[in-house]
Parts: sequence; structure tokens; C-alpha cells
Amino acid sequence: MKSLRFESYKSPPVLVEVDRPSPGPGEVLLKVAGAGACHSDVAVFTEFDDEFGPSQLKPPFTLGHETSGWVEELGAGVTGFEKGDAYLAYGPTGCGHCRACSRGQDTYCENAATMPFLAVGLGRDGGMAEYVVVPARNLVPLGDADPVAAAPLADAGLTPYHAIKQSLPKLAGGGTYALVIGLGGLGQLAVQIIGAITGATIIATDSDPTAMERAAANGALTVSSGPEQAEEIRALTGGRGVDVVFDLVGVSATIELAMKSVALRGRVTVVGIGNGSFSWNFYGVPYEVELTSTYWGTIEELHEVVDLYRAGSIAPQVELFGLDDAPLAYEKLMAGELTGRAVVSP
Ligand code: NAD
Ligand code: ZN
Repeated sequence: MKSLRFESYKSPPVLVEVDRPSPGPGEVLLKVAGAGACHSDVAVFTEFDDEFGPSQLKPPFTLGHETSGWVEELGAGVTGFEKGDAYLAYGPTGCGHCRACSRGQDTYCENAATMPFLAVGLGRDGGMAEYVVVPARNLVPLGDADPVAAAPLADAGLTPYHAIKQSLPKLAGGGTYALVIGLGGLGQLAVQIIGAITGATIIATDSDPTAMERAAANGALTVSSGPEQAEEIRALTGGRGVDVVFDLVGVSATIELAMKSVALRGRVTVVGIGNGSFSWNFYGVPYEVELTSTYWGTIEELHEVVDLYRAGSIAPQVELFGLDDAPLAYEKLMAGELTGRAVVSP
């Protein structure tokens, strides 16, 4: 079968013919419906090498860590799945028995250092192929919802959802404000999720005006980049500042914008892996402001994200590519030319 593989460090992924995999004990073979292209993959194939980056991300492996598909074949010992039913794959693969994994948080597996892979599509073969093998415990049912457009929910939906849930106490009550910086695959879903599960007013910004237009269509107020940007954001909140910021870029300039825009007792979550820094000083930021990072989410939260999708409360905007055009999906992602999350659908 055809697959898009990360073959060697610091080089773009390539289309390669590989054998169709077989599910091992406790695993399920899915016929892939869709696999989203995430900006984190770009870091995998442009930045990492033997010295820098997680040791589990050694090439070669098939990309695609946000994948949906139809059950094709069950591995030994697996029951309770019907051939042809649609599922979304929760990517992270922890040990399955530590405290973190027991609460569905494989992302923070206590045995991560000794695990061979980070996730389906991150170390072990992912969904940019005709078929993918997924541990049965990672499957989240999609029912009769469109499985192709669902693919981005597994990361571009789950990651902001987790960050937003951690910030919910700050968004409760009336008159609260949330700022979303970076309106690509994750950011557009962040705007939709905040709209779906909180009453907060959403302010959104991106260096690309068309990305802001898409966020505005989903109910966000938008503020363009520029020297007065933090003041303009503050003015929209009546001078108080925003209660919560989600920085989906994570370079020094966006973290600084977040910290300049946040209100007293507010919270800033850096989601984007821009590797920026921020110099903290007691007098330099409002009292009790929290600055934190985050990584992906739990499988329980992925069930909740799918519930929102099945209820029609959120709907990923996608740009579809065939497997032959999978390299083009990443080229357009890197060039900032996508009109929605790139989904490769074989
Ligand atoms: P994307 O390329 O789809 O979107 C990025 C958006 O940010 C684009 O719209 C771009 O125009 C905008 N942007 C870039 N630089 C900007 C700047 N300086 N100011 C304002 N806007 C700017 O990427 P994505 O797939 O949505 O991923 C977003 C980030 O989140 C990436 O860094 C990715 O690696 C990271 N990520 C983190 C996690 C996690 O668990 N923490 C999970 C998935 C992705
Ligand atoms: Zn574990």
C-alpha cells in the first residue's frame, strides 16, 4: 500500500510503497478515512536529529497522528468492534497501566521514557496510508458522523479542547474574554470550541488576514498585528485585559503579546511549539497571572470533542488531498497557503 513516510532526518516526507500491516494482539486495523497534517510534523522532519528531539521519533515511520477510519480487521483478543464502523484514533500510546494512562492521559505516561513510540504517527506508523494499525483502547466511536472531516479532531481539536478545559474556571461567569493567537488548524477549532462550551467573548489574531476572516465567521472579534495590538485588545475588554489567552504560535513575540494582553489573575497557555521565551519579573506582569504550556489531551476529552462534533457544535474546516498529493499538503501547510486543516484521504 502507499504511505507518506518520514524516511530521514531534516528531509521532507516521501511517498513509499509498504506492505499492508496486520493488527497484533489488542490492535485493530483501520481502513483510513482521513489523516490530518499537523504543524508539529514539520518540526519532526525539519528540526529533529539524533541529538535534538524525542528519541522515539527516529525515522522511518508513516506520518499522520490525527486519523480516522473504518474497522477492517481485529487482532487477537479484540472483541466489540464491527467491521465497517467508523472510529477516530486517539494518538498517544503510553504504557496503559501507570496512573496517568489510567486516567486516559497517555500524554503524561509515567513510563514514557521507556516506551518505544510517542503516538500513532509519532514513532509508530500513522494514518497517511491506506491502512493503519491502532491499539483497540485508543479508538473513539464516530457513529454516523462524517469520518473524513473528523480526522483533525484527534489533535487540532483535542489539544485546544484540553487547554480550554484547564482554563474553564477563568472563563466562567459573564463578561469574560478569551484571546486566541494563531488561527491555523488548531486555532480555528479553538475559536469554535470556546464558542461551544463557554460564554466568553472571543478575540482572535493571526498574521494572515484570511485566517482572521475565518475566525470572524465563527464569531470572533479580530485584531490585526501591529505596534498597538495589545492596547487594542485591552480596549475591547474595557481596559481590563483578557481572562485567558491561548497562544498557538509560541514564539517570543506572541508570548509577549499574551502577557501584555492578559488581565489580573488571568491565565496564558502556550500551545504552539515556537520555542519562544519570556522574561518574567514580579512588577512586569499583573498579579496572579498564570503562564503554562500544554501537550495534547486525554482520551476521555477526545470522547467529549467527538460529542461536540456529533451534536454539530463544532465542524473542522478541511482542505482534502489524495494520498498522491500528501507531500503537497505539507508544502501548503509550511507556506501558509491552506484554507482549512489539510486532510489526506486515500
Ligand atoms: P498551522 O500552520 O495550521 O497554523 C499556524 C497559524 O499561526 C497560521 O495561521 C499562521 O498564519 C499563524 N502565525 C504564525 N506566526 C504567527 C505570528 N507570529 N503571529 C500571529 N500568527 C502567526 O499550525 P497548527 O497545526 O495549527 O499548529 C499550531 C502550533 O501548535 C504549532 O506550533 C504546532 O507545532 C503546535 N502544536 C502543539 C501541540 C501541543 O500539544 N502543544 C499539538 C499540536 C500542535
Ligand atoms: Zn503510562
